[in-house]
Amino acid sequence: MVLNYGLKNILNKMTKNLILLILLFSRLNLLSAQNQSINLMAQPNLIIILVDDLGYEDVGFNGCKDIPTPNIDKIASQGVKFTNAYVSYAVCGPSRAGLITGRYQDRFGFGRNPLFAPNDPEMGLPLSEETLAEALKKANYKSVAIGKWHLGVHETLRPLKRGFDDFYGFLSGGHQYFPKNWTLKDEHEVKVQFDTYNTKLLRDNTRVEETEYLTDALSREAVYYIDKYKNQSFFMYLAYNAPHGPLQATQKYLNRFDTIKDQKRKTYAAMVSAVDDGVGKVLHKLEQLGLSENTIICFLSDNGGPEKKNASNNGILKGGKSDVFEGGIRVPFAIKWPAKIAAGSVYDKPIISLDIFATAIAQTSFPVETKKPLDGVNIIPFLIGEKKSIPHEYLFWRKFDVNDYTSRNAKGEKIVHRKNIDMLFDLEKDIQETTTLIEQSPQSFQNLKNSYKDWENQMLKPIFLGLGEDLEYSKLHPNRFDRDNNSKQK
Ligand code: CA
Repeated sequence: MVLNYGLKNILNKMTKNLILLILLFSRLNLLSAQNQSINLMAQPNLIIILVDDLGYEDVGFNGCKDIPTPNIDKIASQGVKFTNAYVSYAVCGPSRAGLITGRYQDRFGFGRNPLFAPNDPEMGLPLSEETLAEALKKANYKSVAIGKWHLGVHETLRPLKRGFDDFYGFLSGGHQYFPKNWTLKDEHEVKVQFDTYNTKLLRDNTRVEETEYLTDALSREAVYYIDKYKNQSFFMYLAYNAPHGPLQATQKYLNRFDTIKDQKRKTYAAMVSAVDDGVGKVLHKLEQLGLSENTIICFLSDNGGPEKKNASNNGILKGGKSDVFEGGIRVPFAIKWPAKIAAGSVYDKPIISLDIFATAIAQTSFPVETKKPLDGVNIIPFLIGEKKSIPHEYLFWRKFDVNDYTSRNAKGEKIVHRKNIDMLFDLEKDIQETTTLIEQSPQSFQNLKNSYKDWENQMLKPIFLGLGEDLEYSKLHPNRFDRDNNSKQK
């Protein structure tokens, strides 16, 4: 009995020790698994929410009164709102080419809005350039493009050939919003430029039968792809075409704006409200999956509002879409990244859409070398006070075809060359660009002009004909829309 008792005791002790050891090992394993998952999750996800032709003052965070945008406003209130934020061009195509490459688009000849030309491998973003999706692939990101592409229709220029793993949307510069109008089965049924607005949507390379209002469909897909890639680093380029024309909204959204009597403004408001709902769904999904903290969300418009066309409102800014005045290039812009950026921040130094690329690749767990030098900079150190200097001493814009251009410095001095007239403004005191100061400050004018000329010398002429040359292009390419057209498209 004694022996038995002693054996039992020893066995008991051994079992206890064994259990302790097992527990210790599982704890160590757990810790190591946690560390691994921390490493994997260390690099943030990136979502760029690009809207189209939104007015500067048409979001709550910029003072909009008649269109509530509570979800878009959360990006600003839970992150940083920019008061001097720009895009690199005042219309859609070139602005997007700059954003997606992190480089001034004139460096590679993207100085025009591209035409819809499915057989032309040179009508779009040159293959010599690297997209943000291609760069992030080096850090094991999955990338998804949703909505408007506008960077080339030729099979070699489409999203899946430019670093994106998934695509849901359309290739052209705009689109009809109601599925009943999507009557063309593919790009070869297009007969004139604006037929492209009537094509069926694409999922990757396949035309699909979509049934939802376009903005709602894009939001649904955004939520779907966030779920699909929830367990890995992802980049989502969510490019709503709203509130770009044609002005079309569903009753659900129109009903929210019975107080707006102007029909155009009412429809525009409904379209913006649909985008805001979509942003809400995206934010909710991230929250639900526990991804909010380490996801960078950038919200911006691709250019200023064309006030007469879509009833947008650029507030006190002068001019609008396609202008070199502030109304064309200064856009509503906010970034949310709770892991790094304090809620409720405001940043008032000039930044530009080109900075998104440089900012994104600076946050990856693996160093990412870019194919070409970037014009944008990583703005995070400036936003969190690590760097006290400024991201950009100068910013530049050029409209090649009309020889309009502009440049501003960090102090707010801005030259404008428009319709062959030179102007100099002080944006700090005169944001409305009412009073030219060339006579009072000839030296400032000359300095800005010189820096602009230095910059311009590095730029290329446009490498393709643009929207303005639609007829000319069709004459030069009579088989422009034909299927299997092997004729040389030069
Ligand atoms: Ca636009």
